[in-house]
Amino acid sequence: MSRQPSEHRPRKRFGQNFLQDAAVIDRIIASIYPRADERLVEIGPGHGALTAALSNSGCRLDLVELDRDLIPGLLASFSLNSSFTLHNADALDFDFTSLLKKKSAESDRQQQQLRVVGNLPYNISTPLIFKLLAHTDIIKDMHFMLQLEVVERLSASPGNKNWGRLGIMAQYQCQVEHLFNVAPYAFNPQPKVESAIVRLTPWVESPWPKCSEPLLRKLVKAAFAHRRKTLRNNLKEIIDSNCLEALGVDPGARAETLELRQFIEITNAVHVKS
Ligand code: SAH
Repeated sequence: MSRQPSEHRPRKRFGQNFLQDAAVIDRIIASIYPRADERLVEIGPGHGALTAALSNSGCRLDLVELDRDLIPGLLASFSLNSSFTLHNADALDFDFTSLLKKKSAESDRQQQQLRVVGNLPYNISTPLIFKLLAHTDIIKDMHFMLQLEVVERLSASPGNKNWGRLGIMAQYQCQVEHLFNVAPYAFNPQPKVESAIVRLTPWVESPWPKCSEPLLRKLVKAAFAHRRKTLRNNLKEIIDSNCLEALGVDPGARAETLELRQFIEITNAVHVKS
């Protein structure tokens, strides 16, 4: 089954790989499980492979699509659904908080949290995830199709070569679940690499100690700046070796061996110091 109208050619620069496998689409929708009383935001609806099923749930739906050539088709398919809004915009610039501005009371805000979904263009996936991680207060959960390699980085554990900035910052803010993989033939055109579905659920009660998030981000960036160098070296502008030792961290270790809890403890020590 191909949902792609013949007049639209997939554009590489927009990262267009349209889903065409009904079984995969069903599995994604079952994982999302959209409901009528919810607010969903789909990034990059394309020809509407996921949009149709999302819209059938009766949920309130906002679509953010950059390619203006896709807009007429989306309008034609979904404009009969009154609880649907189409934004012809770049998701990287889009103000997600504006979707909730009309409701100001705190209780409404809680109820109106956004569920964000998308088969994301590969070229924007990492910056977009970092952007959305800055808005976890208004997000209930996120389901994304990404390159498998990115999902492996998001869900990595310490000691693994994939453990780094993306996984640490995502796991500090969210529960990360690698749901399932998707083979290239589920798409048209087929991407060169394997893909996977990930679920990111912002913590309601975080399992981690609190720390300054901007400082954690700065620390993790510095710690991984040169993966082969020791913490002593990478962190010398931020914290000295004695302080690391006092925290039970070996200054001769590499960042990829450290657990998230240890990064948080270092962040809090720096915070107290500065
Ligand atoms: N959801 C559809 C299409 C996925 S392809 C499907 O699964 O078949 C990725 C989609 O994201 C395309 O429609 C592309 O035009 C759109 N897109 C690319 N860059 C974007 C950006 N910066 N902001 C919003 N949409 C973007």
